[in-house]
Parts: sequence; structure tokens; C-alpha cells
Amino acid sequence: MHNQLFIDGRFVDALDGDTLDVVNPHDGSLITRVTAGAQLDIDRAVAAARRAFPAWSRLAAGERGRLLARLADAIEADTGLAELESADTGHPIRDARGLDVPRTAACFRYFAGMADKIEGTVVPVEPGFLNYVQRTPVGVVGQIVPWNFPLMFTGWKLGPALAAGNTVVLKPSELTPLSALRVAALAADVGFPPGVINVVPGFGNVAGQRLANHPDVDKIAFTGSTATGRRIVEASRGNLKRIQLELGGKGANIVFADADLDTAVAGAAWASFHNQGQACIAGSRLLLHEDIADAFLERFVALAQSIRVGDPADPATEMGPLTSAAHRDRVLESVEMAQAQGGTVLAGGKAPADPGLRQGFYVEPTVVAARPQDRIAQEEVFGPVVTVLRFASDEQALAIANATQYGLGNGLWTRDLARAHRLARDIRGGMCWVNCYKRVHPGSPFGGVGESGYGRDMGFEAMHGYTESRSVWINVDAGIAPHFAR
Ligand code: NDP
Repeated sequence: MHNQLFIDGRFVDALDGDTLDVVNPHDGSLITRVTAGAQLDIDRAVAAARRAFPAWSRLAAGERGRLLARLADAIEADTGLAELESADTGHPIRDARGLDVPRTAACFRYFAGMADKIEGTVVPVEPGFLNYVQRTPVGVVGQIVPWNFPLMFTGWKLGPALAAGNTVVLKPSELTPLSALRVAALAADVGFPPGVINVVPGFGNVAGQRLANHPDVDKIAFTGSTATGRRIVEASRGNLKRIQLELGGKGANIVFADADLDTAVAGAAWASFHNQGQACIAGSRLLLHEDIADAFLERFVALAQSIRVGDPADPATEMGPLTSAAHRDRVLESVEMAQAQGGTVLAGGKAPADPGLRQGFYVEPTVVAARPQDRIAQEEVFGPVVTVLRFASDEQALAIANATQYGLGNGLWTRDLARAHRLARDIRGGMCWVNCYKRVHPGSPFGGVGESGYGRDMGFEAMHGYTESRSVWINVDAGIAPHFAR
């Protein structure tokens, strides 16, 4: 387990010696203390990234790809990485092994393959001129990631940035810094040059803030809350750095009367409760057509009540604890607030009764019936709490779905092809899933609109976000007539 800052190819202490506690959410025990970087640590990490930039950006693209592929292999071969992520975040070990680690490796492998396919274009301009457009790296990139998928987001952010020839300073969440530090160590082992990847754990309002306002950082790629996204935009003004924001969401998961109910019930449980609902793309608003709502809810509530909540280290566990005690409290408060506004709790709504889980940050899978205008149906809860809303027509479903400040991921469950395409076109968001939910792939763009942010992770769109275009004009034999002839 690494618990120092990773700067310029080495693990080092913070200059002011500050630390942060990393806690196991299953029982509140201290896993370790990790060095907390502050302003001067960010400054030296940025300086290391700047020094490394010329050589890394000019390295043969295939060589950058080879290193990324070796990192993907090292992540897959690391026998302790899933356990580390599970202990740090509370992800059930079956998810850490079956989703977090393989998805992270797949992301690095995808961008390994992209590194030498970042091609330019030749524009057919006037005869006599050659105009070509190259894609060049942005430079030094600051990346700030949250605690809900710390390993996977490390892959989503580092993969495209490094493939495109940028160097990086990544700040993980103060709550979950361990897997990013492990990835940094693996990167050093497989041969990444010093300074190309720097990982600086630290407090958001100190280390994160410094990265966002640093005059020598060319871009910030941020995943986190909408409120912090706004702060990052403010902080970035000094040097007008580029910004990419992946922010909150309030996904509408809409079940029509013609849906296959068994598939939709299982899909809605995945959309609501995977990762304890701590996902920006969670289907946290479940919209049910009035004709099937009662039949659907009978099965859905029974399924929610049967989910095995417990120690994430147990392979049988299906839902673990929330990542922090403070967040658990916020989630339970939002359920109380929903009840105060007239909402009805149909399942869960409290911490589990099991005495073995009392020290941990657990919340039962929770189903709340409410109205579209209630706060529980408007604000992101980011926990295992799904709000049920009813609708009578496609138009009403669409109006409810689009009536939030967010626009990220939404789901449709229907056998009607025309309806599926129509709503996929009209529903506000960056992703829409039909008869499935929360599918992600390193090649498919991921991100939002409105207060869910701008810019995209994954795919060629992510690579474009980590490159600038440069247009080069060559006078081959144009014989330009002088404009100011004498
Ligand atoms: P925060 O915005 O609080 O934190 C995200 C990151 O920003 C953390 O590393 C945090 O550090 C850092 N940070 C906090 N304050 C500042 C600051 N002033 N300047 C710079 N960095 C700062 O989000 P949460 O940790 O609460 O994460 C949950 C949120 O993330 C949810 O709203 C969720 O929707 C969103 N999210 C969005 C995704 C998307 O792709 N659209 C994906 C996943 C989550 P520290 O932890 O030390 O405070």
C-alpha cells in the first residue's frame, strides 16, 4: 500500500507533513494515513509534468501506446488491486474484481491502441498550397476525480490524456486515494518516464483548488459535483485553461406499459443500487406507466428488499456501505426530507438492523414514491435511494424526465421501436440506454449537458478534448500576387 505523494517518478512526503485518514467504510477502522499534498506539492508536481512534457509528447506514438498496454496488463495482473479498492470505497468485492479492475484495464488498453491512430487531415484549399491539420497535445493536464469510482476514473482520465501526449497531475479524492497511488506505482514499474504521471492526494479546497488555478496547467479534467465544477471554472480564469466537467445527474429510467417487466425490474435495480447508488448516471428517478406501476412495484420492492447488503469483502455481498459516514448521513437526511414533503417510503429508508453492520456506513436499498416537483425527485441523492414517479403518456414521461437542471444518462424500457428512437432523440442528456441501463465502453463518449457538465470522457471525443488542432499552410507553388503591389 502506497501512502505518499507520487511526484516525478518517486514517492515523497508532503512539504508541510500533513496527512489524511483513509477509513474502511465497512467498520470505520483506519486503513492508513496518506500524505496530503498542499499548494507547494502541487507546484512541484506541475513543474515535474512540465519538464517531462517535451520528451513525452515527442515520443513515438506507438511507444506511448506500448507503455499504456503494459500498464493495462499490470493492472490486470495485480492480485491485490480489487481488494484495495473494495476496502477503500466499500465496493462489493465481486464488483471490484468483476467490474472496476477489468474496466480500468480495458480503458488503458483501448487508449493504448488509439495512441498511434491520432491522425491529422489535409484540407483541399486553393491550388498551390498544402494545408494540413495536426492534433497536438494540450500540455500539462490537471485531473481531479471523486470517490465513487476512484480506480475506474483514474483509467478514464489518464488513458486518453497520456495517449495524446500530455503529462498529468491527478488529484484523487481525499477519501479514496489508494488505487490511484497503486496505478502510479504500476506505471513506474512498467517504464513510464518520471514526471509523466504525478498523483497528489490532498484536500479539495487546498490541492484541488491549486491545481485548478495553477498558471502552468493547460487543462483541468474534472469529475465531481456541480457545485465544485463551478468553483473550478472560477479558479481557472487566471490563465483561461481548458475545462472538461463531468458533473452530477438525476437519471430518468422510464418503464412503458409494453416493456418486458422482468427485464425492466432487474434493470431498474441495477440502475438504482449498483455501487450503492453512488453513480452520477444512476437511474435515480424511476418513471412507471400507470397501467403497470403496481405490478412493477410489487416485484421491484421485493427485489430491493432481497438485495444482500453486507461486508464488501464477502463475495456473496451485493451491496456494500456508502463511502463515508458524512455521506451516509446526507443520504438518510434526504429520505427524511422526502417524507416531510409527503413522499412514501416503500422499501428501506434506514440503516440495516444487522448488528454486524452497525459500525459501517450502510443504508438499505430504498424506494420512495414522490411527486416530480419534490426535492427528492430533483436533487441528486447519490445513494441507494430511487424515487418512483407515475406517468400516463409518452409526452408526460418526457416532460417529467426533462424537468431537472441535469442532463446525463437516461433509460427507456419499451418494445416499441419508434417510441424508443423518438424519446432517445428528445430526452435531455449525453447518454440514453434502451432496454438496458448504465452500459459504458471506452470507445463510447460519456458526459452530459446542462448542469451535468461539458466535454466527454472516452472514445475519440475524449482524445479530441486532450488535443488542440494546428493548421499548417505551405506555399508549394502558389505564386501569390502581392496585395500591396509596388
Ligand atoms: P466533489 O465535487 O466534492 O469532489 C470531487 C473532487 O473534487 C474530489 O477530488 C475533491 O477533493 C475535489 N474538490 C473539492 N473541492 C474542490 C475545489 N474547491 N477545487 C478543486 N477540487 C475540489 O464531489 P464528490 O466527491 O462529492 O463526488 C460526487 C459527485 O460527483 C456527485 O455529484 C456525482 O454526480 C459526481 N460525479 C459525476 C460523474 C460524471 O461523470 N458526470 C461521475 C461520478 C461522480 P476532496 O475529495 O478532497 O474534497
